[in-house]
Amino acid sequence: MGPVLNRLIELQKVENCLRDARAQLARCRRSVIVEENLIRSLQNAIEAKKEEIQLTKVQCNRLELDLKTKDDETTKLRAALNASKTNKEYAALLTQLNTTRADNSKVETQVLDLMKDIEADEAECNGLREKIDKQKQKLEDTRTKAEQEAKNHEAAIEKIQKEWNELAKTIPSKAINIFKRVAETYDGQAVVIVEEQEGKTTAYSCGGCFMNIAAELVNVLMTRDDIIRCPNCTRIIVLGNVQE
Ligand SMILES: [Zn+2]
Repeated sequence: MGPVLNRLIELQKVENCLRDARAQLARCRRSVIVEENLIRSLQNAIEAKKEEIQLTKVQCNRLELDLKTKDDETTKLRAALNASKTNKEYAALLTQLNTTRADNSKVETQVLDLMKDIEADEAECNGLREKIDKQKQKLEDTRTKAEQEAKNHEAAIEKIQKEWNELAKTIPSKAINIFKRVAETYDGQAVVIVEEQEGKTTAYSCGGCFMNIAAELVNVLMTRDDIIRCPNCTRIIVLGNVQE
């Protein structure tokens, strides 16, 4: 190995820092998005509850109307009962009246249950509103904190990028292009160390994909400053314990 490979190893270290700083920036921005989403889902829950309340109210109104009709019916039946001329007529009207009353009380119970549901749903809405208010405060805190942190990360990224650019200037552009391409494929991991396989001194494997690397390639690495790529994964392979 020679200066080009050694600088590529250096560049890999800077690349790692750069990716790390970018990931931190993304994480910090995501923290705001997560809180925003939480508020949105709470707002959706309120909307769903409101709709449910609306539907229950419609149902309630319908039953109340039904109840009013039945009340009128009861009044009429009672009048007819008082005016009944025969025992048979009286008995028939009384049965009808009792049935209507029983129906009425059933409907009344239904209305009461629905009103309870509405009350419970409204309480739930209020609870959700309180949660949203708290969450909004939390979001503002997170946003303020994240904005400051993002600035720090951006400054760090800029500094590392400069370092990257300076170092890249000292490396042949052909090598830089290979580095960039491989880094793009492997999430920033362009340069990997050739590892000696356990218990063997002449068997080697790629530190990226762990496939075998021929001893001849390792020999080339030892004696020359050429870019050698893993035949399997195409990562740039270098010897370990160099500039560790
Ligand atoms: Zn490999």
